[in-house]
Amino acid sequence: MAFSDVTGQDAAISILKRSISMGRVSHAYLFSGIEGCGKRKTALAFVQAVFCGKEDGCGVCPSCKKLASGHHPDLHILEPEGAFIKIDQIRELQKELAYRPFEAPKKVCIIDGAEKLNQASGNALLKTLEEPPGDALMILITPERSAVMQTIQSRCQSLAFQPLPVELVEERLVREGFPAEAARVAATLCGGSLKRAKEIGADGVLEGRVAFLNRVLALNTRDIQALFQTAEEMAADKEGLPGFLELLLSFLRDILIYRSIPEGLANSDLEHLVAFEASRRSEGSVMELIEQLVHLRSLLSRNVNARLALEVFFMHLASGVRG
Ligand SMILES: [Zn+2]
Repeated sequence: MAFSDVTGQDAAISILKRSISMGRVSHAYLFSGIEGCGKRKTALAFVQAVFCGKEDGCGVCPSCKKLASGHHPDLHILEPEGAFIKIDQIRELQKELAYRPFEAPKKVCIIDGAEKLNQASGNALLKTLEEPPGDALMILITPERSAVMQTIQSRCQSLAFQPLPVELVEERLVREGFPAEAARVAATLCGGSLKRAKEIGADGVLEGRVAFLNRVLALNTRDIQALFQTAEEMAADKEGLPGFLELLLSFLRDILIYRSIPEGLANSDLEHLVAFEASRRSEGSVMELIEQLVHLRSLLSRNVNARLALEVFFMHLASGVRG
């Protein structure tokens, strides 16, 4: 992964490149920005450049090749195990960082999901951020800077990543073989996240978009059978589920913005449906639904029982209707 492989994050990348060329790489960074906008790719490209000793990794030296294969002894990638990054994971990392690098100029750790540090693991990590052993480089990644402990934020150099522009996402999807029409719609609905765009653009999701939205928005607590049935069918569609949830999220956001900027809808072709839902749901209840949907997504990424989780969410969705 080189900087030239990252789409749409020129500002962040130029800061990182400059820090390399000036020999002023910080010991800790906090990358924040919407999920799927290129933070982890940028982090990997940064590591490659630092290890390679150039402004951008050459891609051909042994170090670059090891990184490309995902096996470099001086790069450690930490992710949440279950709901949190646990204190044992941080202790393990600290042991690892205490050794000299094997072959790279420094040891690097990427912590992807820094908002999942809990009190104990966060405090343990603080010590490392205050006094990094040797010349270690720590890169923390999170969708939401404010969700990371304040004390950790203040010890890192912050870099904000922007949501990707619609045209860039569209172009990228087309290059990866998505049909032009699907690429256009997915890019519009994805909120600047390439990852979400790919989920929305997956086979069958966009084709079923209107029917899906009509079906779930019509769920009501007087017909629990239909609600359970919908949850069961969606849970069974493992491939399509993430994309359908993205569609629903983008639709709920549209309900919120409809009152203030009706011309700014992502689902502009469904304005009548957005208007109808805006008329029968309060702003507060839609905001709650968005929170619950984001929570549902994170539950599903942890392999909970999808059908049960969907049932709970649909109950909220169905009971949020006025009158
Ligand atoms: Zn190289």
